[in-house]
Amino acid sequence: MKTRFPFALLACLVCAPAAALHAQQPGPTAAQAQVFMEQAEKQLSELGVKANQAGWVAANFITEDTEALSAEAQKNFSVAVQQLAMDAKRFDRVQLPAELRRKFSLLKLSLSAPPPGNPAEATELSRLAAGMEAAYGRGKYCKPPRTGAGDQRPGETCLDIGGLSRIMATSRKPEELLDAWQGWHRVGAPMRTDYARFVELSNKGARELGFRDAGAMWRSGYDMQPDEFAQEVERLWQQVRPLYLALHTYVRTRLGEHYGTQLVPQNGMIPAHLLGNMWAQEWGNVYPLVAPKGAQGSGFDLTELIRAKKLDAKEMTRYGERFFTSLGFDSLPATFWSRSLFTKPADRDVVCHASAWNIDNVNDVRIKMCIEPTADDFITIHHELGHNFYQRAYNKQPTLFQSGANDGFHEAIGDAIALSITPEYLKQIGLLDRVPGPAADTALLLRQAMDKVAFLPFGLLIDQWRWKVFSGEVKPADYNKAWWELRNRYQGVSAPLARSEADFDPGAKYHVPGNTPYTRYFLARVLQFQFYQGLCREAGYTGPLHRCSFAGSKAAGQKLNAMLE
Ligand SMILES: [Zn+2]
Repeated sequence: MKTRFPFALLACLVCAPAAALHAQQPGPTAAQAQVFMEQAEKQLSELGVKANQAGWVAANFITEDTEALSAEAQKNFSVAVQQLAMDAKRFDRVQLPAELRRKFSLLKLSLSAPPPGNPAEATELSRLAAGMEAAYGRGKYCKPPRTGAGDQRPGETCLDIGGLSRIMATSRKPEELLDAWQGWHRVGAPMRTDYARFVELSNKGARELGFRDAGAMWRSGYDMQPDEFAQEVERLWQQVRPLYLALHTYVRTRLGEHYGTQLVPQNGMIPAHLLGNMWAQEWGNVYPLVAPKGAQGSGFDLTELIRAKKLDAKEMTRYGERFFTSLGFDSLPATFWSRSLFTKPADRDVVCHASAWNIDNVNDVRIKMCIEPTADDFITIHHELGHNFYQRAYNKQPTLFQSGANDGFHEAIGDAIALSITPEYLKQIGLLDRVPGPAADTALLLRQAMDKVAFLPFGLLIDQWRWKVFSGEVKPADYNKAWWELRNRYQGVSAPLARSEADFDPGAKYHVPGNTPYTRYFLARVLQFQFYQGLCREAGYTGPLHRCSFAGSKAAGQKLNAMLE
């Protein structure tokens, strides 16, 4: 209820002068639009901080109560955005300075799930969103106790996504991989009805704002028409697709040699459980199975280097911070170190999916991760810190401009930094003794492609599915069928066992229950190489690009900061 008052106040402030002036000057003015926007940004900033605080606690202490509190704070924020965006319509035909006009456009786009105007439906939407995210965070696969003689266990063994991901990454036993895959994918099924309702309500909110559906709204955040954006994404995909096809064919051949062509049919699709990752989105974990025969290896294994040095989670994060400070950025604030979540707590459920936060939208930056001593997590730390340094760089901008140029930019910054984690860099920071020579390049590049190129179709298909779901082209009765059609078509991976509409496999991928638009990650996979190349050039580097590290370059740091600000 507290939040109703500011709206009333806001409405009065803006409406009263308009009404008073009505006699001489019909219609609102640019000056009134300016005042409206200042008030709107102030209100959104305050409610945004409250939603951040509640969201942080809910993700770090999953309970019924934190879930309800987070849903409430998020709803207050969402409803405020929605009401402001509706109110803002009266300035649609007012001639405004370009900057101010842009704020009005961004206001409409600031939610990924816009609530309907009806308060009961707004509450329902935010409860569904909080509930699905918590259900994902709590997700576990519990194996019943084994009953065979001499093999009895006192109770179930339960694995969360962290434990199951470890199996997917390291096991080479097809039955064990299949069991972990199937076990985790059960987390999706109970979300199906909630998700369908969530789609209905998000669409309703999006339509009230003037968009065709929530998917069209998501596609409107790229300074072009939604349909143009869809075409642009397709154009990019066609450019990079040949790389993916070559990698897919090579990996399928090598996995066929390892697992046999019964399991990995040649000329067909690769079963989704054999690629080292729960979603087959990045394949680096099965690199040892496909490493080029007879060629020199990459000469090192980053996971082993991290383990040999016995780096703990905070020390790994310090390496990430030092990369940024080497470019000239300020150190992270002390609160980052005292308030972040670095490791999985032993005594409670948390949302382990890595994320970066700026709680007060000023300097209270944090990461939330369940860091393990692996190369993947070392890279992910750099990714998340990229968000934090970006957030801090633009913290002096007006509220609605506190964001990336688009969401692909935001995802690409930390990744561009992580591309600089070359053998040369690892030697420089004391993790690696000897830099492998050019003979290791094939291995290094293939290892890189297993993550970067393999991801491209996955980065694309999540929203190809959601755009169709939001538009109604895919109906709830076909959710899973459409999901697998897209996974077959884009990724060339097949379900490892029969799936049906009793399953809801999209729900087993965080960003679907977490309602995070995903095309940003596809864009980031392209943009990060462009940023990386640009930063290497600024650093004065002239050798082969994949061996470039711009760490320590103040010139590159200045350019990067100028972009982030
Ligand atoms: Zn990210």
